[in-house]
Amino acid sequence: MDATSFVLKGNVCYSVSPQEASCTAGGYLVCVEGKSAGVFAELPERFASLPVIDCGDQLIVPGMSDIHVHAPQYAFRGLGMDLELIDWLNTRTFPEEARYADLAYAERAYSIFADDLRRSATTRAVVFGTLHVPATELLMDKLEATGLITYVGKVNMDRNSPDSLVETSEQSAEATRTWIADVAGRYERTRPIITPRFTPSVTDDLMAELSRIRAEFDLPVQSHLSENLSEVEWVHELCPWSSCYGDAYDHFGMLGPATVMAHCVYSDNEETELLRRTGTYVAHCPQSNAQLASGIAPIRRYLDLGMNVGLGTDVAGGADLSMFRCMADAVAVSKLRWRLVDQELAPLTTQEALWLATVGGGSFFGKVGSFAEGYELDALVLDDSGIRTPRELSDWERVERYVYLAEEGGRIARKFVAGREVELGA
Ligand SMILES: [Zn+2]
Repeated sequence: MDATSFVLKGNVCYSVSPQEASCTAGGYLVCVEGKSAGVFAELPERFASLPVIDCGDQLIVPGMSDIHVHAPQYAFRGLGMDLELIDWLNTRTFPEEARYADLAYAERAYSIFADDLRRSATTRAVVFGTLHVPATELLMDKLEATGLITYVGKVNMDRNSPDSLVETSEQSAEATRTWIADVAGRYERTRPIITPRFTPSVTDDLMAELSRIRAEFDLPVQSHLSENLSEVEWVHELCPWSSCYGDAYDHFGMLGPATVMAHCVYSDNEETELLRRTGTYVAHCPQSNAQLASGIAPIRRYLDLGMNVGLGTDVAGGADLSMFRCMADAVAVSKLRWRLVDQELAPLTTQEALWLATVGGGSFFGKVGSFAEGYELDALVLDDSGIRTPRELSDWERVERYVYLAEEGGRIARKFVAGREVELGA
């Protein structure tokens, strides 16, 4: 037995299905060599020799997977939140991302991002960098040091981009190969992911070359899809041969169960079927979709179709890294969609939001996001004693309340990733 074998004792809650959470008061969550051996009301004799970490009356929930977040945008979070997508990209995002050509700036900015992500509820993340290879490698070094497990992408952009943030097709492909060679075997927890920014900023030639690189090195893919109506229209003009925006990726073999597509707000029936059939992950980013006036993705439909769906903060389209806020926003925007757009699609429940934040996105990393036997053990120990109430609450009510009131007095007391404790510090 090693340091990743132990027992957490506390009030253990996790999703057993999208509709149902299991809560065991005073339960024993057993971790054996980084994996869950299950949750028990009484500690089975066979685990009696393991060290027990007594979390008292605190809550124990699975760690959360943020499957769409832009590390370089963290520096301007909370600014320009009154703009619409394309204006926001041009006035805020592109000028900021251009700054990462300067490694000294990247060092300052990525130190803050990695530090804050380490202390957040996120245990796994799928992360955009910028097009700069040195800065992206620096970001990977910093994320590796957090103890979190992440995919990180050097961004590709060879058209429709400002002069300060653009590559030629050849430069972009070559830089991607250099980056993959540089990071090969360098990390335990940090892996590269192919990252065409989105179809408007990647030519067909470059997309085809990225697809070859993806296949050659067996790498996953992340990008954006059908976030905004004018973007969808633009892709139609840029790729007149495509039958839908999703086809502009699928044509190059970029969809599949190792691909995350952020947003999918305006996916029509054809595109939805394409995503379903290929097993592509949808990263639902409700705060970003609201802030940038993009719209509301039909997550209920995606869940009903059995599609792969998780949640993303999409910093800085979303203003902060809180996956609790992300869950609350997913429920809230689904209610507005139901009220204002389509009463056929019922709003999401808080149980479903927990499922999306844990199992839904976690499954992109393998058996992650549950405490069922055999899952990699990512866990948060939540102290909700600072969120005052005169009432007796069930454990599930305490989780539900934490989602909404984490900022009020909640505290992440301990955090584990694949059975290893993450140093939270002050
Ligand atoms: Zn994004």
